[in-house]
Amino acid sequence: MPKKKSLMLKKEEPHVVIIGAGFGGLAVARGLKDVPVRVSLIDKSNHHLFQPLLYQVATAALAAPDIAVPIRKLLWKQENATVWMANVTRIQTQQKEILLDGIPVAYDYLVVAAGMMHTYFGHDDWAAHAPGLKTIGEALDVRRRILRAFESAELEPDPKQRRSWTTFVIIGGGPTGVELAGALAEIAGHTLARDFRHFDPRKTRVVLIERSERILSAFDEKLSKKARAELESLGIEVRTGVAVTDVQQDYVELDDEKIPARTVLWAAGVKASPLAAQLGVPLDRAGRVWVEDDLTIPDRPEVYIVGDLIARTQDGKQLPAVAPLAMQSGRQVARNIRLAVEGKAGEPFVYIDQGSMATIGRNRAVAQIGRFRFSGIFAWWLWLLVHLMSLVDYKRRVVVLFEWAWAYFTWQRRSRVILEVPHQIAPDRPSVHGRRLFSASAPPQAAKLRLKRSGT
Ligand SMILES: Cc1cc2nc3c(=O)[nH]c(=O)nc-3n(C[C@H](O)[C@H](O)[C@H](O)COP(=O)(O)OP(=O)(O)OC[C@H]3O[C@@H](n4cnc5c(N)ncnc54)[C@H](O)[C@@H]3O)c2cc1C
Repeated sequence: MPKKKSLMLKKEEPHVVIIGAGFGGLAVARGLKDVPVRVSLIDKSNHHLFQPLLYQVATAALAAPDIAVPIRKLLWKQENATVWMANVTRIQTQQKEILLDGIPVAYDYLVVAAGMMHTYFGHDDWAAHAPGLKTIGEALDVRRRILRAFESAELEPDPKQRRSWTTFVIIGGGPTGVELAGALAEIAGHTLARDFRHFDPRKTRVVLIERSERILSAFDEKLSKKARAELESLGIEVRTGVAVTDVQQDYVELDDEKIPARTVLWAAGVKASPLAAQLGVPLDRAGRVWVEDDLTIPDRPEVYIVGDLIARTQDGKQLPAVAPLAMQSGRQVARNIRLAVEGKAGEPFVYIDQGSMATIGRNRAVAQIGRFRFSGIFAWWLWLLVHLMSLVDYKRRVVVLFEWAWAYFTWQRRSRVILEVPHQIAPDRPSVHGRRLFSASAPPQAAKLRLKRSGT
């Protein structure tokens, strides 16, 4: 007679709820593979996204599936893990539960790895004219705007208007802004150079605006000067120490200039997911959570913070919001949950800085790793290698390597399809109706879910 042991045991296994399947949340889930817990990994999208290459999707170098993998595909072999595609609307630490679109889910341990979102510093109306880059949807929107701008320039008889279609303004001189500017210069100067008859794409104007005194301010000063020189050699106008005062559909206004531009991209500011504020603990200015040494929050040893949401200083410096921090903190939290399940105290988290890199364009990048500083072609190859090897699976590495090699030799970008979004698209996602999905002491399989398609 088959033993009922596993089901009985499962009922007693603690329930770990992880919010967010980015670098951090995924590292926690994977780290709990052999731990006697039930893991529920919840994300509002169905894919894990490699954000560092989003700008390549936005600039038509890569296709969306090259950098986005279904979360289920990544965890299908892990028997103690369940994936939920749902939006977490509330965290109630007193009741030890979260709400999924209003439906309560109880937890024994909670990991908040919901990351950051754009902020327009009080000018939310700018978002419509200056999209940011955080999701695949946004990258495809940016790609559509860039490619459309060139098509509109070809149709435009008025030279002034045509100039505004071929002017691209990027706000924010961090790595994403620099990468976007470099890629745009390459598209205009090479990829599309001979494709149009009524204007010369090589005369495209690309302006990069940074409020502080230098671009790539997190890098060594020499490297940021080097990056600026490289951008300028590509014909990009770099404006530093200047603030944006207004963004509208057809212009960007600065302290001292009004730039007519139909395509404006936002790479300037991020703030924490609003879920952080629901924890009722101290936050930093960007809304991130000040964590204890073991990455729990004050007075709640069962709640952990991972990735971009961590506010913490180490050696007098604030920890950076980068992928290595998310992965390292995720692995540490998995270890600490294992220790907690065994009735032991958690270990303190120590971040190991693996360096920083930014690419400017073909054969041009900057990198700082420990005491070492690199720029030019060596830094570029290093950047390629690190990003290739960081992709989540082997198959994607091969595909991306092929795309990059092809682009390198031909100067072409393969993903130049303009995808228009139908205005009245039906919401095509199941909605969940029911009460409590499952309690902390019952296995997820016992959940009574009724899935219903929304009407049009
Ligand atoms: C354009 C861009 C380029 C970057 N380039 C680099 C780089 O070159 N090198 C580097 O190290 N770092 C880079 N970063 C930063 C790096 O991507 C982040 O530090 C890292 O992704 C943080 O991981 P995370 O797990 O904390 O959050 P994220 O990866 O942002 O994941 C958060 C997850 O939570 C989900 N989520 C959020 N709210 C909810 C909710 N309410 N309910 C359900 N799910 C929710 C989101 O859908 C998302 O999947 C870049 C970031 C961007 C945006």
